[in-house]
Amino acid sequence: MRAEKVVRIENVAMTFHSDEGEISALADISLEIAQGEFVCIVGPSGCGKSTLLNILAGLVTPSAGAAYIQEQRVSNATSLVGYMPQSDQLFEWRTIWKNVLLGLEVQNKVNDDTKAFVEQMLQTYGLYEFRNAYPSQLSGGMRQRAALIRTLAINPEILLLDEAFSALDYQTRLVVADEVKQIIARENKTAILVTHDIAEAISMADRVVVLTKRPGSIKNIHRIMLTCQVHTPLGCREAVEFKDYFNLIWKELDVHA
Ligand code: ADP
Ligand code: MG
Repeated sequence: MRAEKVVRIENVAMTFHSDEGEISALADISLEIAQGEFVCIVGPSGCGKSTLLNILAGLVTPSAGAAYIQEQRVSNATSLVGYMPQSDQLFEWRTIWKNVLLGLEVQNKVNDDTKAFVEQMLQTYGLYEFRNAYPSQLSGGMRQRAALIRTLAINPEILLLDEAFSALDYQTRLVVADEVKQIIARENKTAILVTHDIAEAISMADRVVVLTKRPGSIKNIHRIMLTCQVHTPLGCREAVEFKDYFNLIWKELDVHA
């Protein structure tokens, strides 16, 4: 199979203009991502990670350069992209069923086929029994899965995950990361995950992109090759190479360096 580049970021820069003056958030980012790849982006706080995802989602127009999704220049929000923000943003007054259908409702795409697709995902990912429950009745991990199903319901090609697991406690976070990685692989999606957790990035990614401090530019890209028995984010942490990647990226992120 040809390794098709589904995402292309070309010399993207972003400067925000505010009352306090100009803030240069991103400087000259170029990156290509292949179909089915899982890319993690790490970088110091405020270096423009969320801005980069916002640009890919078509919510922010870059001041220079351009982003392309399947060779189409990104100019506004497209259903090719599913965006899962930092907080799960489930609506507390809607049932899980009503929550996972939200994206489809917004796009006017609720029909028997899409409903069956969502029902199937709820079943596969252990939430079917909870479809009539409200978010407050679910655990953090279950909420995160519901948010992911809502994002997958519109059948996007590319998933953008912004610090998707940071609201979870450590134990839950490991389990949910495992689940999410499996779901994304099984649905054959391309994913970009922003995280400040180096271990999480190494254990989940095909490549880890390290950004410099603001204005964010690419400091290094690591292709992650781990020899582990079990290829899950948890199993990958057992790989002998894990610590080396960790130390390397840790040093690159050192704000004093
Ligand atoms: P990160 O996600 O890496 O923490 P962000 O992309 O959220 O960083 O922000 C990068 C920089 O751009 C920050 O200094 C932030 O204050 C600034 N910024 C982000 N969005 C806006 C905006 N809409 N207007 C002005 N400044 C912004
Ligand atoms: Mg951010």
